[in-house]
Amino acid sequence: MEHLQDIHRYIILGSGPAGLTAALYAARSNCCPLLIQGAQPGGQLTTTTTVDNYPGFPEGIDGNELMQRMEQQVRRFTGNLITATVTRVELAAAPFKVWAGDDCYRGRTLIISTGASPKMLGLKNEWELMGRGVSVCATCDAFFYRDKEVVVVGGGDTALEEASFLARFARKVTIVHRRATLRATPVLQQRAMENDRLHWRWDTVVTRILGDKETGVTGVRLRHVGTDEEHDFPCHGLFIAIGHTPNTELFRGQLELDEQGYIVTRNYTATSVPGVFAAGDVQDPHFRQAVTAAGSGAMAAIQAERYLECLADQGEGSACSLEMFGRRKTNPEGQGET
Ligand code: NAP
Repeated sequence: MEHLQDIHRYIILGSGPAGLTAALYAARSNCCPLLIQGAQPGGQLTTTTTVDNYPGFPEGIDGNELMQRMEQQVRRFTGNLITATVTRVELAAAPFKVWAGDDCYRGRTLIISTGASPKMLGLKNEWELMGRGVSVCATCDAFFYRDKEVVVVGGGDTALEEASFLARFARKVTIVHRRATLRATPVLQQRAMENDRLHWRWDTVVTRILGDKETGVTGVRLRHVGTDEEHDFPCHGLFIAIGHTPNTELFRGQLELDEQGYIVTRNYTATSVPGVFAAGDVQDPHFRQAVTAAGSGAMAAIQAERYLECLADQGEGSACSLEMFGRRKTNPEGQGET
């Protein structure tokens, strides 16, 4: 049976840096947001080790700890956080409806910060062997590969970071990349090239994962894309690090998405539905940094507040355009912001 909950000014979906920062901003302006944390509270950063590039932590900070601190900071201002998986949304008209099981939550505005999930290779036994040699998270699983041989697939920042982390544990780490040039940023490329525990297979793809549930991964079949030659490459682990897919299936058909499935935002964090905002990796295929996600979470909360102010000024049902809530009102003399 459906349980209809009170109407909130803001509902925020997701508890990575974007969602928690949006919640912090909204809660701090006494706006009582409801934060639905999702299945993996803290988001992707909880599967990272040291975060070196989040400002304010000169020695770096463990990803899990950073997220715990962000949550504690939100809890200073509100306890309105629930851990639940959203199964359905209805965005046709405000109040927007969000279901988690039988509970239906309603929000006058909605901030979506559901993040992104790792992409898979599409090989037939990759899920069967997940946790039995296949992994998408070196930080979580590297420990199990002490003195073993592992393969990392991908040529972006994630692949090089995963490989460098694994190299602290594994005897040998081989990076398999489908091209002869890396996509990763130059500083990470240079660091990886200087790491003599890293080995490279260029122009090469994984076509098969060898092993079964009993043996775990025993190797991978590699194909050189230039010559089409295949050979089996023994290893104990396969780390897939080929990018991410935005978590937007819930919103398909209700919000404008781009061809990769990211939520399209205009004027900072506004989506195609007035009153619905998006922040963080769910709308950002380019930067995907904790700090940029946090920044867009702050923007979403501020824009949602201005949107509600606009509706209050102009009356419910008025067309509060992007421009109206995208910037502050000027004072009567037009002298700057109020
Ligand atoms: P990415 O930049 O999209 O790189 C994905 C890599 O996987 C590419 O090298 C791609 O090959 C390869 N790939 C994709 N699909 C494949 C497939 N089916 N089979 C084999 N290889 C495949 O993804 P990312 O590394 O996750 O990085 C995404 C964003 O996050 C980037 O903007 C990155 O800068 C950022 N990021 C930053 C940090 C950091 O600053 N510390 C850490 C992680 C990520 P091609 O090159 O041939 O396309």
